[in-house]
Amino acid sequence: MNPHPPHHEPDAPRDLVGIGIGPCNLSLAALAQPLTTLDAVFYEQRPAFHWHPGLLIDGATVQVPFLADLVTLVDPASNWTFLNYLKARERLFPFYFAERFHIQRAEYDAYCRWVAENLPGLHFRHQVDAVRFNPERDVFEVDFTQLDNDGEAEALGRTYTKNIVVGIGTEPYVPEPLKPLVEAPGVPVVHAADYLDHRQSLLTADHVTVVGSGQSGAEVFLDLLRNRPTGRERLHWLGRTEAFAPMEYSKLGLEHFTPDHTRYFHALSESVRDRLGTTQWQLHRGIGADTIAAIHDELYHRTLHGGWPDAVLTPGVRVRTAGRIATTKIVELHLEHIQQGSRSRLTTDAVVLATGYRERPLDRILAGLDPYLRRDSRERPRADEQFRLDLDPSVTGADCHVYVQNAERHTHGVGAPDLGLAAWRSATILNTVTGKNPYPLPARTAFTTFGLEQRPLIPPARQAPALTPLVEGR
Ligand SMILES: Cc1cc2nc3c(=O)[nH]c(=O)nc-3n(C[C@H](O)[C@H](O)[C@H](O)COP(=O)(O)OP(=O)(O)OC[C@H]3O[C@@H](n4cnc5c(N)ncnc54)[C@H](O)[C@@H]3O)c2cc1C
Repeated sequence: MNPHPPHHEPDAPRDLVGIGIGPCNLSLAALAQPLTTLDAVFYEQRPAFHWHPGLLIDGATVQVPFLADLVTLVDPASNWTFLNYLKARERLFPFYFAERFHIQRAEYDAYCRWVAENLPGLHFRHQVDAVRFNPERDVFEVDFTQLDNDGEAEALGRTYTKNIVVGIGTEPYVPEPLKPLVEAPGVPVVHAADYLDHRQSLLTADHVTVVGSGQSGAEVFLDLLRNRPTGRERLHWLGRTEAFAPMEYSKLGLEHFTPDHTRYFHALSESVRDRLGTTQWQLHRGIGADTIAAIHDELYHRTLHGGWPDAVLTPGVRVRTAGRIATTKIVELHLEHIQQGSRSRLTTDAVVLATGYRERPLDRILAGLDPYLRRDSRERPRADEQFRLDLDPSVTGADCHVYVQNAERHTHGVGAPDLGLAAWRSATILNTVTGKNPYPLPARTAFTTFGLEQRPLIPPARQAPALTPLVEGR
């Protein structure tokens, strides 16, 4: 392992600058590390790597097998595999006997932090503010702010580079009607992303409402249910979907999270992609079957000594508006049942918004490239099969490119945020940036053949011999 990245002259352009160090760009950094001639650096605004710390609920597992670590699916011999982490921590035998295919999220976080702490070229407390193209030097300029321990600006800096990989991930989403409550100080309305920071007060609150029928909502509801007194649970769980539905996890269904499906989806027209994107919600929005079973088990267990738990689980409900009652901390949710059309009010003492995440807008840091950026009919940046943004030839002609990680659901499909595709996407980007294919990738990755292959329906062997054309007029 070569801990020393290639020597870098201060003003010389880098080969690659990564913006954001979540799992996606950490995978890229881990796969870039052995490429000793590649001069790459990564900037992250946070003080250290931490994967969704507010939801590292005890027992919660990653929803992909441990092989979907940062590198294994493209380089199982890498130093940065999950198994190598276990070896470094002398925990390989215990893992061997644990027989766990899905590891706990806390363990995945610890593994990623081990990689982040040992990889060269990662700069934490560096917030990237702007990117622009410098046509005189045919390079990108990346401006960043170095932050101090309190997150305050300490110094400004600039890096030059030929390639940028934007991996800024997602941020918690709060529906409009609930925004005023989340922003109001002292009101116990929190996004699930901050659940563990508020867990104690939520466990002792008189009544708690969880809004959102996805995995996070289910995990928060289960944790509260398990830790509130039997018979006095005083919990509501509301969701807009018609049911607390399981996530698609069948083996053929999971093939939608493969390079084959990504290539197929990318080749479709924009309108077909958008329509398909709305119908595939159960591939990424449902609840893990294990979590649903654990919730039912806990509810059932609480009926052993008679009576039903004081927990109301209602799907098909949307929160129309919400407010605080006078000067109290009590919250009133105005609900509407989507199928019934009926309305009611729910007063509660605390609300956990498991209302999902949205991709962080690229435009925030790529505004400087706006004149060069090509967009689709809905003003979304276009990206090619290699995850490269479609930029004006005056930029790409200078061999300068911007790649995206987990910001391309509209062009590459449902697999964009999936950890199982992170290593393959990173390898695709490195193969393209270096032009040397350091990570040969499989031509086929699924049993399902997505789309009709452009080949004759009748196999050549069974086709009738070509007819000799009749000569005109003879
Ligand atoms: C609670 C939760 C659980 C999930 N579980 C799974 C799972 O089990 N399996 C699965 O396949 N997927 C899962 N996902 C989906 C997805 O894998 C994760 O969201 C993953 O974190 C995406 O990685 P990322 O690197 O794209 O983004 P993020 O993890 O969001 O990281 C992006 C990073 O960019 C940094 N950043 C942003 N802007 C700047 C800037 N201007 N300058 C510097 N740094 C910046 C941010 O601080 C952040 O650290 C889960 C998502 C959530 C929210």
